[in-house]
Amino acid sequence: MPKLPEAMSMLAEKSAPARRQHLREVIAKAVGAQAGQFDLDQKIPAGLIAELAAEGMLGAHVPAEYGGAPVDARQFGELCEDIGYASASVLSLLTVHTMVSAAIAKWGSAAQKDRWLPRLASGATIGAFALSEPNVGSDAKNVETSMRREGDAFIVSGTKKWISFAQIAQLFLVIGNCEGRVTALLVARDTPGLTVEPIHDMLGFRAAMLGQLHLDECVIGKENLIGSLDFGYAQVVGSVLDQGRYCIAWGCVGLAQACLDACLDYTEQRQTFGQYLKEHQLVQRSMADMITNVQAARLLCEDAARLRAGGDPGMIMATATAKYFAARAVESAANDAVQIHGANGCGSEYPVQRYFRDAKIMNIIEGSAQMQQILIAQHGYRR
Ligand SMILES: Cc1cc2nc3c(=O)[nH]c(=O)nc-3n(C[C@H](O)[C@H](O)[C@H](O)COP(=O)(O)OP(=O)(O)OC[C@H]3O[C@@H](n4cnc5c(N)ncnc54)[C@H](O)[C@@H]3O)c2cc1C
Repeated sequence: MPKLPEAMSMLAEKSAPARRQHLREVIAKAVGAQAGQFDLDQKIPAGLIAELAAEGMLGAHVPAEYGGAPVDARQFGELCEDIGYASASVLSLLTVHTMVSAAIAKWGSAAQKDRWLPRLASGATIGAFALSEPNVGSDAKNVETSMRREGDAFIVSGTKKWISFAQIAQLFLVIGNCEGRVTALLVARDTPGLTVEPIHDMLGFRAAMLGQLHLDECVIGKENLIGSLDFGYAQVVGSVLDQGRYCIAWGCVGLAQACLDACLDYTEQRQTFGQYLKEHQLVQRSMADMITNVQAARLLCEDAARLRAGGDPGMIMATATAKYFAARAVESAANDAVQIHGANGCGSEYPVQRYFRDAKIMNIIEGSAQMQQILIAQHGYRR
């Protein structure tokens, strides 16, 4: 049985606030201080993965018996908030990696757990989630990647696009169509017929190392099926997307808080018309909106955490609502942050231009704003 690394066992003994404080310091140094450079380089350094893993962050959804450092829903949310505060790209590493590890922990066979979970917890294997395709994004039930059954294997062909961390992932959770049913398969990077093409120059999440997967008649043994053929969408894909949405909702709170903190600092330093910006009432109006939205988004995320902790079925809608609100809140906060910083907000000396680009992406990934609106409205009519 894998042993917890020393740093992780020490961390597990700390109280929740002490643990959070420790992780915040690690994240500020290892991620926040370098986030602008990651954005410019369009990649994260390999050493960062080991650093995050050593602190247990990559094993947050892996049971301890497989070498993970599991945390409760609230603690995981706070981790996403703290990473989102530092870097949206690194947040997306945590998002997709935990989507894959949570899927294996929840739906995987004993053999899948034994093979992959210790490696995911230690960061030796990075997991990526491959649903989107050139022709399909929101309409996930209509994925075109084909998964044909032949004897004991699935023959997989198709293209997956916009896959975060595809450039370095060694394990992909690939969503395809098998005889009309949405199906999830684990596909290792070294599978013959799989090639990965990097995608560069994204608007935001620029260090998320996106890639496009080409699957050409890949032979995937049936032991790599996650869940069952009959419940692939309802169970596996639904729960994986819910997991990703939860992580991004909290990450939006972190990024919105970063926008707010940047503006609090800036408006106390910059003067116009003989007054600090913070004295101008129109600036105060933006600040008041930002403060209120950050607080409201955090409360919605906390509500989703509370329902998750109790296994309440309402957690799915609470998470969708939190993600919708938090993504809108961060888009508005980042927009105001650039405005308040004026030309400085558009230059590279201040981070708010990165926040602005990343905030836009938050409204597209893990269910776009429109997809959440549809879900929330439909749910409302169920009364
Ligand atoms: C930085 C980044 C990272 C990503 N990482 C991943 C990843 O790791 N794995 C992965 O699988 N995918 C990933 N994606 C893809 C992402 O999940 C999709 O972009 C998203 O699901 C939206 O799909 P789409 O872009 O194809 O838009 P479409 O589905 O084509 O929609 C286009 C627009 O129309 C709107 N729209 C669609 N249908 C309706 C409707 N019925 N009513 C009203 N409006 C509608 C949408 O909200 C959207 O604004 C990533 C994308 C980005 C930008």
